Amino acid sequence: MSHSNDQSFGDDGHLNGIFDQLDVPEDVRRRLAQAQQTVQINIPIRMDDGALQFFPAWRIRYDDTRGPGKGGIRFHPDVSSEEVTALSFWMTIKCAVVDLPFGGAKGGVRVDPKALSRLELERLSRGYIRAFHDLIGPNSDIPAPDVNTNDTIMGWMADEFAQIERRQVPATITGKPLGLGGSRGRTAATGRGALQVLDLWAERRGKTPEELRVAVQGFGNAGYHFARLARERGYRIVALSDSQGAIHAADGLDPDPIWRHKHKNRELKGMVYCDESICQEADVEQLTNDELLAMDVDVLVLAALEDAVTEQNAATVNAATILEIANGPVSNEADDQLAKRGVEVLPDVLVNAGGVIVSHLEWVQNRIGDTWSEDEVNRRLTERLAREAAACFDRAEEDNITLRTAAYTQAIGRIAEAMTQQGTQG
Ligand code: GLU
Repeated sequence: MSHSNDQSFGDDGHLNGIFDQLDVPEDVRRRLAQAQQTVQINIPIRMDDGALQFFPAWRIRYDDTRGPGKGGIRFHPDVSSEEVTALSFWMTIKCAVVDLPFGGAKGGVRVDPKALSRLELERLSRGYIRAFHDLIGPNSDIPAPDVNTNDTIMGWMADEFAQIERRQVPATITGKPLGLGGSRGRTAATGRGALQVLDLWAERRGKTPEELRVAVQGFGNAGYHFARLARERGYRIVALSDSQGAIHAADGLDPDPIWRHKHKNRELKGMVYCDESICQEADVEQLTNDELLAMDVDVLVLAALEDAVTEQNAATVNAATILEIANGPVSNEADDQLAKRGVEVLPDVLVNAGGVIVSHLEWVQNRIGDTWSEDEVNRRLTERLAREAAACFDRAEEDNITLRTAAYTQAIGRIAEAMTQQGTQG
C-alpha cells in the first residue's frame, strides 16, 4: 500500500471495499481515516564541533483502540509526516492482523545517521526521548527499532526514560539490549517470522524450499536474518542487495560472510558488500538494484524501504511471488498491476509481524519481571504466527481474494469490533 495517500486512508478504494464487505459502521470508517495524534518536535542537538543543529522528529499514534500504540522509530534523511503516518497506520493493521493487544504508532527523525558520530547519535536518541517523554510509556505508546535504529539506540533511549522518571520502566521500549531487559530472539524475529510465512505459503502451494530461487532486496537486520535462516532451511538465495548495489550467484550465496564484511566496512561508501574474496569466487556477478528487481526468480523478497515496486517498474518484475519484509514496498498501483498479472504478493502486515510479536513478548516479560529462553520466545512467536497466517490464507482461498485483502479484512474486523465495543464516544 503506497504512502502517497497521506493521511486520508479512508479514501483508499481498497479499504472502502473491505469496509463495505465487513459492513463497517460509518463512525469506525471515519475514525480509521486519520491518525489520532501527530506530534512534531524539532530536536536540538549539540554537535561534536560545538554547533547547534535541529532535527525534525515525529511520534504519531494512529489508533489505540485495541491497546497502547506500538511501533518503531526510524532515522532516515527522507522521513516525513506523511511517511510516519502511513507507517503508523500499517502498525495498527499489523498488530490487529496477528491479534496483539496493541494499537499502532510510529516515530521518525529526519537525519542521515551515517553522517553522525557515535556520541552525536547517542545525544539524538536521548533527545528524542526528552522530546516525546510525555507521550510514551508501557500503557500509552511503546517504541522499538526500525530502519537505521537498533538495540544500542533502544538502550540509550530506555536509559534516558529511566533518568527522567527516576525509576526503571523497561516495558516502555522494546528491542532493548539483553542486559537492559531485552528479549532473546528479538533481533532475528522479523526475519524468522517472514521465513515462517514463506514456509507456510510454500507448503500450501506444494513446493519445497530446495526448488525455490530467492532474490533479496535490502540487507539490513530483517533482510540478513531472513536470508540466513532461509538458506539454512534449503532455499537458494541467488541474489542480495543493499543501497549500494547487488550481487548474484546462480548456485546460491552464503549471507554470513557477506554480513560480516558489510559491518567491517560500514564507513566505506560505495564499497558494497561484494568484497574481493566473495566476488572472485566463480559465478558471482554484480548487478544494479533495478536488475535485481527484474530477476527471473521464484520469490522476490523486498526488505528495503517503501515503494521499491511502483507503477513505473511493476511491469519489469519477473518473479512469480513477492515476499514483503519492508513496510509498504509495493505501491497501491503496482499491487493492482501485479495481481492482474497473477504475481502473488505475501503482504507486509503479515510477513513482517514477527518483529512486533516478539516486541510484545518482551513487553510481557518486562511486566511480569521474567526472562524466557530463546526456545520459549520462538515457540510463542511460531504459534501465534501459524494461527493468524493460517486464518489469512484460509480467508483468501475461501473468498477468492488476495492475501493482502484477507489480512486487512482480518485486522479491520477486529479493530471495528473493538471500536464498536467502546461505545459511541459522544
Ligand atoms: N519496526 C518494526 C515494524 O515495523 C517493529 C515494531 C515494533 O516492534 O514495535 O514492524
